[in-house]
Amino acid sequence: ASQAGMYKRVMVKLSGEALTGPDDHGLHAPTLSRIAADLVDAAKLGTEIAVAVGGGNFFRGMQGADKGIERARADSIGMLATVMNALAIEAAVEAEGHAARALSAIPMPSLCQPYSRQAALHHLAKGRICILAGGTGNPFFTTDTGAVLRGAELSADVVMKATQVDGVYTADPKRDPQAQWLARLTHDEAIERRIAVMDTAAFALARENSIPIMVFSIGETGAITRALTGQGRYTLVTP
Ligand code: UDP
Repeated sequence: ASQAGMYKRVMVKLSGEALTGPDDHGLHAPTLSRIAADLVDAAKLGTEIAVAVGGGNFFRGMQGADKGIERARADSIGMLATVMNALAIEAAVEAEGHAARALSAIPMPSLCQPYSRQAALHHLAKGRICILAGGTGNPFFTTDTGAVLRGAELSADVVMKATQVDGVYTADPKRDPQAQWLARLTHDEAIERRIAVMDTAAFALARENSIPIMVFSIGETGAITRALTGQGRYTLVTP
């Protein structure tokens, strides 16, 4: 049986960086279209798709310090950045002919629906791709933690963490030629070994709720669909 059958509902974590393509900032239209098409193909497998989107392509709270903006307020700017990305993904998915709904943890009803678990579950049951903006809705968190939190709330079978590399390595593969790719590791190991692919808060929440995390590369066309059907290379972080 293909793995798509195993996963009824998935939470895809897209960082802002995934949307910049060859640029170093903002949104790259062809990359956005490619990822949207991939999300739509994945939805057509019959899998319910929620997307938690980051905002690092526009602003990260950490950048506030050198601009003289206190952390909590800088994080608000970061959360607003995720709303921009969510609306862009919503538009790109619709352009592929599939229904999408952006939902924001920070209520902005004139831009998109405020996030609620019920609304998200309703849209997912209708086959709509739900794009979740605003992370957890609180400063001092990341959208990785938001992805795991919403994954838990929505009973996602797996959090698919899209990255620039095809999984977890023993060291940074871009710097260390000795780095070894890992097929599998536990949440405990990810935390103990300080695996930087997600922050500790995200791994800890995934551990507490026994949510598997699939770490895969979003760099190539069809990456999400391949990972879902067990064809791509990825690392699984499991209990
Ligand atoms: N952020 C926040 N609370 C959250 C999620 C995000 O305050 O629950 C802010 C934080 O400033 C963060 C920014 O939004 O730096 C963008 O999110 P993130 O850095 O996770 O984006 P990514 O790296 O995935 O693009």
